[in-house]
Amino acid sequence: MARPQRMCVVCRTMKDKAELIRVVRSKDGEFSLDPTGKMPGRGAYVCRDGDCIRRLEKVKGLERAFKGAVPRDVKDAVQSLGGE
Ligand SMILES: [Zn+2]
Repeated sequence: MARPQRMCVVCRTMKDKAELIRVVRSKDGEFSLDPTGKMPGRGAYVCRDGDCIRRLEKVKGLERAFKGAVPRDVKDAVQSLGGE
């Protein structure tokens, strides 16, 4: 009963997809949050628990995962999911 596991870009831990937030970049280069985990494109994952979300900006987790700039509004949307 292997459930899909993905790696958090901050703590580099493999987790169940349900425990992670997915950010996706479509083939057109458009970024969005992907609550369903089903949007096409390249995805990067961050733990839902606040620690990794808070550290995300400091470690440039999304920029490293996507090898480029990530729009401010997408990063703000992730932060808003991290609680306070
Ligand atoms: Zn994490």
